[in-house]
Amino acid sequence: MVEEFAFDNAEERRKVRQNDGGWIEVIAGSMFSGKSEELIRRLTRARIARQKVQVFKPGIDARYSVEEIASHSGQKHISLPVNSTSEMMEQVMPDTEVIGIDEAQFFDMEIIAAVNSLAEMGKRVIIAGLDQDYMGKPFEPMPQLLSIAEFITKTHAICVRCGATANYSQRTVESEARVEVGASDKYEARCRKCFVPHADAPTPL
Ligand code: ADP
Ligand code: ZN
Repeated sequence: MVEEFAFDNAEERRKVRQNDGGWIEVIAGSMFSGKSEELIRRLTRARIARQKVQVFKPGIDARYSVEEIASHSGQKHISLPVNSTSEMMEQVMPDTEVIGIDEAQFFDMEIIAAVNSLAEMGKRVIIAGLDQDYMGKPFEPMPQLLSIAEFITKTHAICVRCGATANYSQRTVESEARVEVGASDKYEARCRKCFVPHADAPTPL
């Protein structure tokens, strides 16, 4: 996770660079696993390298701020909310070198072809998203994005019940909607043993 592009070695990085610089990175994991933090870290480093960066997030995720992506630990990066993949593609500028996308699980399936075409144009696309829903089911379009990415980083949270590595987002309020936007008011990180695929009482403090 400390490697900037999650490249395994310098040779791999050189090969990708030969490919006109275009590729896809996916950061996937449960809620509170540090996806947004990791995305913000990579975007900040690209900006330090004076690359032109654009960041998008789905309009649905107005948790903290409409114009920013934010991590649960308070880090922020400016971003543009969009309501669909096609709206995002209309906003991409020709000279943009790095594109960040947060909460990719809320995008439509068109995002798969769109990010492929952005990478083919020579852009570095960094995508963060939840890979499983509150039932522990793969959350489309993340499985497809993981398949087409050159580089994948899986992030983990800490189970609030027992302290083990957490891979699941436990819903703690009754709702059967797949999309129920919230943070620690509605979800907590749980490990495989402590997770149940339905709403459960929050862990007492
Ligand atoms: P994600 O985008 O994956 O939801 P964020 O990057 O927004 O995650 O937040 C990660 C931060 O959340 C951590 O650095 C930590 O400060 C905080 N945090 C809160 N609860 C947990 C938890 N159960 N496990 C790990 N980190 C947690
Ligand atoms: Zn646990």
